[in-house]
Amino acid sequence: MVSEIHQIHNALVSQKYSCTDLVKSKIEEIKKSTNNTANFILEEYALEKAAAVDAKIKNGEEIGLLEGVPFGLKDVYLLQGQPASASSDFLKEYVSPYTATAIQKLLNAGAIPIVKENCDAFGHGSSTENTVFGAAKNAIDETKVAGGSSGGSAVNVAKKYTTFSLGGDTGGSIRQPAGYNKVYGLKPTYGRISRYGIMAYASSTDVVGPIASTLEDIRIVLNCISGKDYHDQTTYPSTEVSENAMSDIDGVRKLKVGYYKSFIDSEALDKGIKADFIKLIDTLRANGVEVNELDFFETNTLVSTYYTLAMAETASNLARLDGTNYGNRKSAGNLKEIYAVTRSDNFTEETKRRIVGGNQVLSQGHSEEIYLKARGVRNEISKRFSEEFESVDIVLSPVSLTPVPSVGETMNDPLAMYLSDAYTVGFSLGGLPTLTAPVGTETGIQITADKDGEAKVLQFAHLLNELV
Ligand code: GLN
Repeated sequence: MVSEIHQIHNALVSQKYSCTDLVKSKIEEIKKSTNNTANFILEEYALEKAAAVDAKIKNGEEIGLLEGVPFGLKDVYLLQGQPASASSDFLKEYVSPYTATAIQKLLNAGAIPIVKENCDAFGHGSSTENTVFGAAKNAIDETKVAGGSSGGSAVNVAKKYTTFSLGGDTGGSIRQPAGYNKVYGLKPTYGRISRYGIMAYASSTDVVGPIASTLEDIRIVLNCISGKDYHDQTTYPSTEVSENAMSDIDGVRKLKVGYYKSFIDSEALDKGIKADFIKLIDTLRANGVEVNELDFFETNTLVSTYYTLAMAETASNLARLDGTNYGNRKSAGNLKEIYAVTRSDNFTEETKRRIVGGNQVLSQGHSEEIYLKARGVRNEISKRFSEEFESVDIVLSPVSLTPVPSVGETMNDPLAMYLSDAYTVGFSLGGLPTLTAPVGTETGIQITADKDGEAKVLQFAHLLNELV
């Protein structure tokens, strides 16, 4: 597939259409859409930027590759002067006081944000149903969920309302909706991209990442937003993924692949997805790729470790939302009651469940037994990943246990929803780069490499495109 960013760039430069017309038509499509992907459309803001790009082109000035390219933002990113609600009642009227680093880098490159996208409130969910804006609908079948929590972002890309979108991934929120809507979604290595200006869910696994229709677009956006940022001390300086690295298909065939037996043996795995996954492994072997079966933790251990830590971290992060410094404040008799009423009325049931769970595992008498134990298990998981990546270059896994659920199917069963993250959360705990490619199974395939191995991941995705 040809890069959409390149296509738009060429069309703008050759004046096939103007940037204003492009942005207008995308915004019209979003407005008409029944997929419910937009919390806020940045019409005035985007059209002003588009006019500036048009003026530059008319003047015969050169424009950069990303200049004038319309993109979407999950509604957890700050863009100065624009709303940022996290799909919650709490922040429905909140206006961003500054701009997130990743967004600033895209703005510097001239890309144009056109929409703040529907998502699960504060990233809490796997379907984009836990949102005060109403459920987003799947791009391919509107009776199905969009996936989550970055559901609106994945649907916008699949529907071509945006050329690419920035999602956020704490435990699968880019990879799972990408798989549900048949587009690419990359969760980069933890620390490759600054988290400054993205609302924190679980700070130790939160990452910023692109969703796009082509691998080349993922690569372009990744290169643009990566890098050390003094606002986020967990960031590291990374090297660009070059275009040449991507086309070395013969080199990629030599990469050693592994997959986890425990993932494929899981009772909960849908038979169709299992059969397709095994077929993919057979195809790789038939094409001379070395594939090894690996032992790993049971998916239940990964899910319980992740949710213990994610709930603890979100309880701490959301403590700042009390209606005093941020958010819609409710009135009551005294300060303590104001906090209580404000928090009870403004958080969704799912968010409250996580805050209560998180405070429980952090509380005296429980923290040693639960929270600290989970941290210990997480260290073991990371150690095991490091060991595995001494013998293989790439780990393949399904994205989800089941085909895409219908709207309403998992909303009332939180435990089932948590368990549905079985294949995504482990790689988050390891801080590893993982890409969902829309191939192999009905909900795609996850391609994972060791830390900072984005180039390998993207190269391998190219190989899969050649072989399946
Ligand atoms: N579904 C997972 C959760 O609810 C992951 C969400 C995310 O990555 N933001 O925690």
